[in-house]
Amino acid sequence: MKLAHKKNEVRHIVSEWRARNLRVAFVPTMGALHEGHLALIRQARQHADHVVVSVFVNPTQFGPGEDYQQYPRSLSADVEQCRTEGVSLVFAPDYEEMYGRAGAPQYVSIRISKMHEHLCGATRKGHFEGVLQVVNKLFLIVRPDVAVFGQKDIQQWFIIRQMVEEFDHPMEVLMGPTRREEDGLAMSSRNVYLTEEERNKAPLLFEAIQRLSQRLTGVIRDSNNGDAGIPVDESLIKAEIERLRANGFKVDYLSLVSTPDLQPACVIHSGRLYVIAAAVWLGKTRLIDNVLLNTRKYPDHDA
Ligand code: AMP
Repeated sequence: MKLAHKKNEVRHIVSEWRARNLRVAFVPTMGALHEGHLALIRQARQHADHVVVSVFVNPTQFGPGEDYQQYPRSLSADVEQCRTEGVSLVFAPDYEEMYGRAGAPQYVSIRISKMHEHLCGATRKGHFEGVLQVVNKLFLIVRPDVAVFGQKDIQQWFIIRQMVEEFDHPMEVLMGPTRREEDGLAMSSRNVYLTEEERNKAPLLFEAIQRLSQRLTGVIRDSNNGDAGIPVDESLIKAEIERLRANGFKVDYLSLVSTPDLQPACVIHSGRLYVIAAAVWLGKTRLIDNVLLNTRKYPDHDA
């Protein structure tokens, strides 16, 4: 396995693989790797001869006052985990390698419309533009045939897939199912911020969205006006928000949205894919999670 810090090293290595007609899969990360990341790497290996993993804590996707400085960093452990998982190349650039010298002006950016207005985009202004800025650059450096992103960050997944389509990146975007701890908490590099008491409460988030999913699925099943659409009973959503609040969670949102546009859904139409997504604060830690409703399967998604 190779560790590269420079874009040109990556370009050189990947172009040698391409010259031999080998397929390349890519898993972008911010490091502090856990089982969720490793599952994406294993999935990526099924689709290519070589897997590239990037480790870069991208400052442009953090807002003022967010945890850019505190974000856990553990490059040498990450590199060892990648080696064990059969990764061919880890790309770990520094800030300057990605964006030039500090303070250098940036005159060009990617603008998103509509898909970032709700869910995390509503409170994390500029976050998804920052994500697309770095992911677009990484795609152009690595030039993968396929990239794998987690369902855990579902808004990110849909926005990236849209960028790939609209910008004609010649590649496929796959979704890896959310990996969870035994008690249901979605794995996240940020879970290390939780105090013991918060960690014990954290699984209530997944319980809430699962319960909501079961209730909505029950309503869909029992209804026979599928084509006209079934109005969403908002009181079911409010009840879950209240329950979370009563347990000390500060709820950013708990919403049902349609796909792929990620707009709030008031009516459910049969055969379409919806997402129940939530973001909450437990003390100083922000947790996100989601479940797919009425699951139409996406490529490679076996949740
Ligand atoms: P991050 O390092 O948090 O930027 O995440 C890198 C990739 O790992 C993204 O595609 C995430 O969606 C994915 N990911 C993070 N946590 C999980 C998880 N628990 N299960 C599956 N994928 C995950």
